[in-house]
Amino acid sequence: MAEVIILLGAPGAGKGTQAELLAAELSYCRLSTGDILREEARAGSPLGRKARAYMQEGTLVPDDLILQMVEEWLDKPVCQGGAVLDGFPRSFGQVRGLDEMIGRRGDRLRGVLFLEVSRERLVARISGRRVCTGCGALCNVKLEEGGETCRSCGGDLVQREDDRPETVARRLQVFDEETAPLRAHYEEEGQLTLVDGEGQPEEVHERILSVLAVEQERLS
Ligand code: AMP
Repeated sequence: MAEVIILLGAPGAGKGTQAELLAAELSYCRLSTGDILREEARAGSPLGRKARAYMQEGTLVPDDLILQMVEEWLDKPVCQGGAVLDGFPRSFGQVRGLDEMIGRRGDRLRGVLFLEVSRERLVARISGRRVCTGCGALCNVKLEEGGETCRSCGGDLVQREDDRPETVARRLQVFDEETAPLRAHYEEEGQLTLVDGEGQPEEVHERILSVLAVEQERLS
């Protein structure tokens, strides 16, 4: 039986960073639907080719494609201990699909964490985000010092295609319309915990760990 933790939050809320830290701490896999889709698109797989147009527009890839992809990942050996879901679910169709999947597989939803970050901060985080073409490191040219080259290896930095201003506005709108309502749903189910996502990544990580420790105590 695998344990599943859902990390919800707007684009730029820090889900990727926090999912990575949390997965390492718990020896779970990090299952980022955005990263998997980007990899599929880069590799030119059938799934990647279907997903590409949606991603370039900043709209959601259809639920059936996403659900099948998530289940294939949950089957992988690296996810057998548990999974931190990053960027999924993002629609009510995906919530229902995930519920059904968890029930059928005998997995357990350990918690749903919503990372709260002000809109101003989200825009600064996304518009400054860069990826190093040399080592793949992430950095932020608006929030960190270090200029336009990678601090780790000196490589060139590029902006993710969907981090450009036109697409960012669309992604935030899609989040408000389709994903933000999931917060109310998980709240009604008594499964949601809000986490302050402002501050340094290590601070936010500590907040998440204390929330999960509390959850664990409540259940034991
Ligand atoms: P992200 O890196 O999580 O912001 O995802 C980048 C893009 O991939 C999104 O703007 C969507 O086009 C697509 N995507 C990622 N996860 C999902 C999902 N769970 N459902 C639908 N589309 C997704």
